[in-house]
Amino acid sequence: MPDKVYHECRQLIAQGRAVLEDLQDWGFSTVPAFSDELLPPCPVGQSPEQAMPAQSCRPVSLDELEAQLQGCSRCPLCEKRRNIVFGVGNPQADLVLVGEAPGREEDEKGFPFVGEAGRLLDRILFALQLSRQDVYICNVIKCRPPNNRDPQPDEIASCEQFLKAQLAIIRPRLIVTLGRFAAQTLLQSKDPIGRLRGHWHEYQGIPLMPTYHPAYLLRNPAGKRDVWEDMKQVMHRLSG
Ligand code: SF4
Repeated sequence: MPDKVYHECRQLIAQGRAVLEDLQDWGFSTVPAFSDELLPPCPVGQSPEQAMPAQSCRPVSLDELEAQLQGCSRCPLCEKRRNIVFGVGNPQADLVLVGEAPGREEDEKGFPFVGEAGRLLDRILFALQLSRQDVYICNVIKCRPPNNRDPQPDEIASCEQFLKAQLAIIRPRLIVTLGRFAAQTLLQSKDPIGRLRGHWHEYQGIPLMPTYHPAYLLRNPAGKRDVWEDMKQVMHRLSG
């Protein structure tokens, strides 16, 4: 064994012995078993393997991720938002639905899809014999862009890590994107939603089906037939 490694091993053994002696002085008769729960949660976007030193943190839960996001000022959308709209639903959902960004009502209430479009989404889920408790619903962007404009590239770059972290925690079997923006952003495509929808794609290794946004369906009810076809494919794959 090289001298350097030998001395490091001796140092580690001496440190371990000192810790055991301390525990004995404090009245412990047994050594508490080590548990991941004693470690701090990993920072956003970092796994225990990527931590320095490795394994010095544990994976975050959805609740912890939401707590880490509070007060976020990573992009200018923090200036006018009233609430960060993190996401709602089942943390173990097989299906995650991803929209664009919060609108006025979502910003006020702090939950995604709470307006008229949200009620239509609930009816689509109901027709599929699903409810919000069965799925997880979130947006690419967590704060409302002023006047509901499209999010800017720097805002997406700042915020997408939270969506990635949500998906890494939930590990859904399938993703459905709602609307042009979510599909184009997650698929890094400029293709129109009419061409993207109805076909399977992939995001972070997860099968992804783009379909129309419920707000679009409110203006164009004829699109409901296409959404129904897309969701039938999703349900078929979920039940397979
Ligand atoms: S949009 Fe995302 S990155 Fe920007 S301030 Fe809100 S939470 Fe932070």
